[in-house]
Amino acid sequence: MGLAALFFPKHCMICERIIEHNSSHLCVLCASSLHLSTYAQNIMHPLRLQLDKKIVVQTAYAPFINAPYSAQLIRILHALKYKKQPYAAKILCALARPQLSAFFEHHPFDVIVPVPSHFLKKLKRGYNPAELIAREIAKEHGVALSSKLLLQPKRKAAQALNDKRQRTQIRPETFRAKVSQKQKRLHMLLVDDVCTTGATLAACYWALKMQGVERISFLSLFFTPLEYEVKATVDL
Ligand SMILES: [Zn+2]
Repeated sequence: MGLAALFFPKHCMICERIIEHNSSHLCVLCASSLHLSTYAQNIMHPLRLQLDKKIVVQTAYAPFINAPYSAQLIRILHALKYKKQPYAAKILCALARPQLSAFFEHHPFDVIVPVPSHFLKKLKRGYNPAELIAREIAKEHGVALSSKLLLQPKRKAAQALNDKRQRTQIRPETFRAKVSQKQKRLHMLLVDDVCTTGATLAACYWALKMQGVERISFLSLFFTPLEYEVKATVDL
């Protein structure tokens, strides 16, 4: 154990035990028992089925499921979202690498666009989780990244619609896109950390569509199926 590790021992992001041989942020036990839920490439992803029918995406994918049996994996997501641990983005992307490699092999994209966060939220947290994930993925899979194309000038305010699934909607003016003539023809991949109701992705989709973007796809690291949606109302 090095001197730094003696004074600043590294803890496993899942079980919080001290890691002695540290080349990772996970202990061997946790790393080997992770439940990495995956969907096959050749089936219609449930994320796509959960979207509003008016949204026409080229493709939609999420490697991980936000469900009780993925609890360990979700602890890493929570470290990224709520515990100011930005390196969790790198860990999650590394864990999703096999699925993401297959996804990028099947679908070529011109540019990756992270779902933006409001500047006050970014200031408070120090970073935007979706942007960190998008940056990791762009670097790993050799796709250009554009964090300036889509902005969130307003705080997110959700409206619950009165349909039986209590689908929520984000006000369209929440996001603003600035797209050049040349960029309109690009196939854009919107990237988020977790997709729960699909409302955020939908609002971003419409902001880009209003600017004339022709081809849009979605990638969220985690996807919350409708049956788990009720419990996960904090993040839209
Ligand atoms: Zn552990």
